[in-house]
Amino acid sequence: MIHFADARRLVITKTKAHAGVRPTIALPISDALGHILAREIRCDREYPPFHRATRDGYAVVAAEARQGTALRCTGEIKAGDSITEPLPSGTCMQIMTGAAVPARADAVVMIEFTRRDRDTVTFDRAAQPGQNIVPRGSEAHAGERALAAGLRLGFAELAVAAQVGVTTVECHRKPRVAILSTGDEIVPVSETPGPFQIRNSNIVSLAAQVRLAGGEALPVGNALDRVDDLSAKIAQGLREEVLVLSGGVSMGKYDLVESVLKSLGAEFSFDAVAIRPGKPTVFGRCRNTVIFGLPGNPVSAMVTFQLFVIPALDILSGTEPRPLPLLDATLAEPLEENPNLTHFLPARLEWQNSAATVAALRWQGSGDIAALTLANCFLVVPQERSQISVGERVSVLPRLDVL
Ligand code: AMP
Ligand code: MG
Repeated sequence: MIHFADARRLVITKTKAHAGVRPTIALPISDALGHILAREIRCDREYPPFHRATRDGYAVVAAEARQGTALRCTGEIKAGDSITEPLPSGTCMQIMTGAAVPARADAVVMIEFTRRDRDTVTFDRAAQPGQNIVPRGSEAHAGERALAAGLRLGFAELAVAAQVGVTTVECHRKPRVAILSTGDEIVPVSETPGPFQIRNSNIVSLAAQVRLAGGEALPVGNALDRVDDLSAKIAQGLREEVLVLSGGVSMGKYDLVESVLKSLGAEFSFDAVAIRPGKPTVFGRCRNTVIFGLPGNPVSAMVTFQLFVIPALDILSGTEPRPLPLLDATLAEPLEENPNLTHFLPARLEWQNSAATVAALRWQGSGDIAALTLANCFLVVPQERSQISVGERVSVLPRLDVL
């Protein structure tokens, strides 16, 4: 059984070897959130376009505004005002945040450090050259790259596109991800389960995780634990770039996913990882499709999706796989787990007295999705540790959609 970090590395190298040139699509910026930029975007002008005041106060020549000096205020400049005249010597002008600083002025003194008596402004402390001014072009120059190809468009990237006047962006098409659950006991969410049946929550959570990770989710449905039904529905899923299955990968008599995939020509890179939950996870490839066989237990499917499916979706989206966003925190309650497996326990990360602390939540094991709704992270218990005491530093994996 391999360590989860090695399993991730395998996912990354195998998927990179397989990823080809992606088709692109032009999207209005209002629809582009989460897409990967396919063509870089350049600046249309200098940023900022003028020497910008960053505080409300007085524009001055620093050498003229010494502590205790009084200067005559000759007017005011609001954000958006056009200014053409340089600041006359021995004077100051009232200026607002976001307004253009007049020529000759080289500092803005915050209003809090001045006293005003009609047209006269007295300075409580000496002005420093450059103070509270962002010079024209200091953020970016006209023609320079504003956003590189391969960037994921989040709110900040979309703001930059908007700032430089780009309303349509060229993006990579999202990878298409077929989702197939398996199990004789599973019924569609819209149906009333029999006394020993359960609703298909995995197909809902996996589709949500695919969308959060930047893929296009294409639920196929549920396959019964029978070779004929599994083969037919897996064949349907193999039409897409990625196929994510849940269930049927353990050691049970009716866990047929691996053997059916093999009969359809799949090759596997691993079929077990030293983690709990999520040990029986399968990763491989069949024809042109990257395949993940995740365990059926809902929390196992969620953890293994975050660990292994996301890096593959990143690569197939046209970007570098994001690193696992592990954080450090102080353990708030003692822990005892079986060694030899890395554990991912539903947990809550809190900030107390300016420090991050984490405690595992009570749960009934990997079927307990209710516990996960109270968690904002997974506490990572490394395989070489069986006991961890209060106050020790531990790693924490934030939940994709919470932290
Ligand atoms: P399996 O991996 O097929 O052995 O399933 C492990 C556990 O997860 C069993 O208790 C299943 O009933 C449950 N399970 C499997 N598939 C799903 C699903 N699609 N939605 C919710 N629970 C599931
Ligand atoms: Mg099953």
